[in-house]
Amino acid sequence: MAYLQFLGAAGTVTGSKHLINTRDDSSHQPGLQLLIDCGLFQGAKEWRLRNWEDTPVPARDIDAVILTHAHLDHCGWIPRLAKEGFKGPIFATPPTIDLCSVILTDSGHLQEEEARFHNKKKSSKHHPALPLYTLQEAEDSMGLFRPVPFDETRQLSPQLSFRFVRAGHILGSSMVELFWGGDAKARKLLFTGDIGRVPMQPNAPGRLVHAGPERNEDPEILVMESTYGNRAHPHGDVRPHLAEIISQTVNRGGSVVVPAFAVERTQKFLFLIKELMESSQIPRVPVFVDSPMAIKAVEIFMKYTEEFNEEARQLVQKYGSPLTWAGFHFAPKQEDSRKINEMRYPCIIVSSSGMVTGGRILHHLLLRLPDPRNQVLFIGFQAPGTRGETIKSGARSVRIFSEEVPIRVQVAALEQFSDHADTEELLGWLRTFKAPPNNTFLVHGEPEAASRLQQVISSQLGWNVKIAHWLEKVPLG
Ligand SMILES: [Zn+2]
Repeated sequence: MAYLQFLGAAGTVTGSKHLINTRDDSSHQPGLQLLIDCGLFQGAKEWRLRNWEDTPVPARDIDAVILTHAHLDHCGWIPRLAKEGFKGPIFATPPTIDLCSVILTDSGHLQEEEARFHNKKKSSKHHPALPLYTLQEAEDSMGLFRPVPFDETRQLSPQLSFRFVRAGHILGSSMVELFWGGDAKARKLLFTGDIGRVPMQPNAPGRLVHAGPERNEDPEILVMESTYGNRAHPHGDVRPHLAEIISQTVNRGGSVVVPAFAVERTQKFLFLIKELMESSQIPRVPVFVDSPMAIKAVEIFMKYTEEFNEEARQLVQKYGSPLTWAGFHFAPKQEDSRKINEMRYPCIIVSSSGMVTGGRILHHLLLRLPDPRNQVLFIGFQAPGTRGETIKSGARSVRIFSEEVPIRVQVAALEQFSDHADTEELLGWLRTFKAPPNNTFLVHGEPEAASRLQQVISSQLGWNVKIAHWLEKVPLG
């Protein structure tokens, strides 16, 4: 019997992985086994441990992966899948492939660093502690990627085809329309991946791409994200608030530390900072972009400017590449990174990872969290169980490198940067559907967010909505 099975992002926001099995033992049709997304579990240990479990069907028996976008919680398990024996193609849009080439190798590097750290501190019960995958394994997995442009139908078998349509979430982000059953009686399944802000929202700096989410959909089965299923994003202009936070910090002699996803979010933030400096709304303090991916990330960002919305395109036209700006420093090597620690004057540090789960941001926070003059500014989602969420929630201390670090800094979060639609925006998108799906499954949300969105969709639209459970199988027969 053909089925859909939720292997991740069920009951949580990470580890997106959905298996489609069209193998029908009773017929002589061979069928296929596909994964839509292949994400890493992040956050609390109970979730991260799942990264070490095998897939319910052997990796070597999976025929293909269709990838919605390049965030780690959607693509970060790919090198592991390849390590476990997967040899099939990984279909993704061209910008997603470029982004993955930076993000996955960086992830491999971080996995190796973490294993090295545990071995040095003997802090793992495994001897030796091993990385989930290495940088080399991440690089090797890039050989499996195959570009598929938006809106082009790709045939996988006589019975199965798919098409990427725009999700409006991040550069290259797509939804997957999957058609199954041949032309005449094809059934349509829609996997949203992550859904971006509604197109006409003027004050959503997180929204960078010009098109999406795709309107007028009519799937029979909808698998939909619910990250902000219980939230309303603030609608005001973020710039005055941002200027105030930065100016106040600099005036009291502190520095602003911004944990940010290295690709796209960081660049959009840099353009806003540049604009605030050029219009004298904030002082011209040095800006350090400290991520091993920083330079490559800027290059990818600049390569796809035709994908950007009008506002972002104008900023790029006005100011050119951030790599050429005076006072903006990109730190690709570890020695350069260390020099930032010696800065005794106010500065702005943008560093990854965005949820403080690893990377160079840890060194900056270790040094700067105890000083009340400093400011930590969050511009992205913080998943439960991550250090980012601990700091954001107002905790008094956080564990970094086996050390309990006191948190005395000011902490702020600007939700306007979100590149996920909020509840109203999600509903607004669903209202564009030509027909309600027979079944809607909510994934990629914490339990409260998913349950709130379930209520709202069923009460306002009258749709049949369920919350997906981990390893649950939905027959497609
Ligand atoms: Zn995403």
